[in-house]
Amino acid sequence: MNLKSIFLNLLFPIQCLGCNQESVWICKNCQNKIHLQKYQICPNCKKTKTEGNLCGNCQNTKIYFDKLLVAAKYEKEHLIQKVIKTFKYRFIKDLNKFLGDFLSDTIRKYIKNYKNYILIPIPLHLKKEKWRGFNQAELLTDTISENLQIFIDKNLIKRIKYQKSQAELDRDLRLKNLHNAFQIEDKIKALNKKFILIDDIATTGTTLNECAKMLKTAGAIEVVAVVIGRGE
Ligand SMILES: [Zn+2]
Ligand SMILES: [Zn+2]
Repeated sequence: MNLKSIFLNLLFPIQCLGCNQESVWICKNCQNKIHLQKYQICPNCKKTKTEGNLCGNCQNTKIYFDKLLVAAKYEKEHLIQKVIKTFKYRFIKDLNKFLGDFLSDTIRKYIKNYKNYILIPIPLHLKKEKWRGFNQAELLTDTISENLQIFIDKNLIKRIKYQKSQAELDRDLRLKNLHNAFQIEDKIKALNKKFILIDDIATTGTTLNECAKMLKTAGAIEVVAVVIGRGE
């Protein structure tokens, strides 16, 4: 444990994020309140039930990933959002396990022959990773890889541009902000391969789309994006 986390634990003692019960981050009872999505929807209009792919009306949308799978069902108490946020800013092992298991279940349920895919965590810029101390997507991907015995490639996609946080920008600026933000290290490694991109939350999906575009351009045959939740 580093100094920062010791300090944070003193300021914010361990308490269940759902019911404030002491000494656990998320108690069994509250874990059971968070459910897997029963079905997937079109990532563009968010209305039509699909397998996570675009629906018939959205076929002309410029989306490079083949599917977007969302693991957790939206619930009114916002418990899942709270769990993701806490995990994002503090390295908490128990939450990593809980969220990683959740993503693993989604992959098992929706991706046939998932062992033939390569996992890629959405990279953070090095500067941001240093400041935060870790990349939350990478920690989740480690858990998934362990659970499902799938190979990870952490170096294929690099974030080369340092940007403002996407959450601070509107949609147009987000797209501009992400333009040329990523780079593929060794294009031949993507050729004829199938990938699963992992991130914690998809808001507009632009980050995932930008990474999927890079992979597809380099010759990837399939890219499935998997996230815990979809932001508003
Ligand atoms: Zn609880
Ligand atoms: Zn649609």
